[in-house]
Amino acid sequence: MSDTSRPPVAAATVLDIARQSYRAISLYAPNRAPAAIDLSDNTNLWGIPPAAARAISNAASSAVTRYPALYAAGVKEAIAAYLGVKPEMVVTGCGSDDVLDSAIRAFGEPGDMVAYPDPSFAMIPIFASMNGLRQIAIPLTDTSDADAELFIAANAKITYLCSPNNPTGASFARATIERILAGVNGIIVIDEAYAEFARWNCLDLLDNFPRVVITRTLSKAFGLAGLRIGYAVGAPDIVAEIEKSRGPYKVNAIAQQAAIAALTDDLPWVAEHVAEAITNRERLSRALTTLGLAPIPSESNFVLVPVSDAAGLDRRLRDRGVAVRPFSALPRIGDALRISVGPWPMLESCIAALGESLSEGRQ
Ligand SMILES: *Cc1c(COP(=O)(O)O)cnc(C)c1O
Repeated sequence: MSDTSRPPVAAATVLDIARQSYRAISLYAPNRAPAAIDLSDNTNLWGIPPAAARAISNAASSAVTRYPALYAAGVKEAIAAYLGVKPEMVVTGCGSDDVLDSAIRAFGEPGDMVAYPDPSFAMIPIFASMNGLRQIAIPLTDTSDADAELFIAANAKITYLCSPNNPTGASFARATIERILAGVNGIIVIDEAYAEFARWNCLDLLDNFPRVVITRTLSKAFGLAGLRIGYAVGAPDIVAEIEKSRGPYKVNAIAQQAAIAALTDDLPWVAEHVAEAITNRERLSRALTTLGLAPIPSESNFVLVPVSDAAGLDRRLRDRGVAVRPFSALPRIGDALRISVGPWPMLESCIAALGESLSEGRQ
């Protein structure tokens, strides 16, 4: 039924119809140009764990014609066994990115506040905007710790912490985290993407702080970034809300099989390469110090090193076939390069290229 008497309206552009809050959002676009040695994204540079590799070939021929388990129950059980928690304390997602986004959406009404450290994980402000939330970026202290006073003063609906923090690599002090947990009223998300490389983690805090949820991933220590498997651990009532927001079928069938295999049979492989990463991280930090730089002590599988011209150095490193992640004008830090840790020959090439790039920059 058409209404011919309706006055003509100006044709709306797509931007007029799209959500207002999306105008400020641009696509996530880190430089992913191929490089001979890619130390830019903190993935596992030793390759794929063996049991996961076998599970992927098996799943490819058997599991893909049917829908996967709705909420990845088998993966939840494997994660629960790995961490020593109950399966109802676990929610999975398409990478921990998806879990973080789902958690923000589950607890943040449009207009609510998300507080996060600055610098920290670049996706958080993007997820906050995508979900229509307001945001407050709270600068780190001089020691790369979270600023407890400012987080408590912000008292946001959602407080995001990241420990070890990306991009500094440093863990927040346990006392700082506990003060923030005790001092804010909302939900606190602690991103532990790099927990396997750190001396301690926050899992035990779940016993005393029922509004905390910890996110983790199989993308870093477990070497499965391409399969996109992440998870969160927390009280069953929190996890249930995140699961509603996440929706069904988010972890595909091949990823589910690989995750179960990795969490069951690849733990020795993971432990071995984590140990090697930690050794190489310390060796890399010493080599950077020898080049006259002052890397931030790291608890993860990467090292952040302040430099005077990150963009220029990044270009000169890329000319030499080495990709790292440059940052410009980070609060309290300035320009810096984030270098992922991998097998020593890769790091040796990176150090040599960095030495040349630094002297070329001084000419
Ligand atoms: C890499 C990373 C993630 C995301 O991991 P996925 O599980 O691959 O989505 C989350 N948080 C931090 C801090 C990271 O560095």
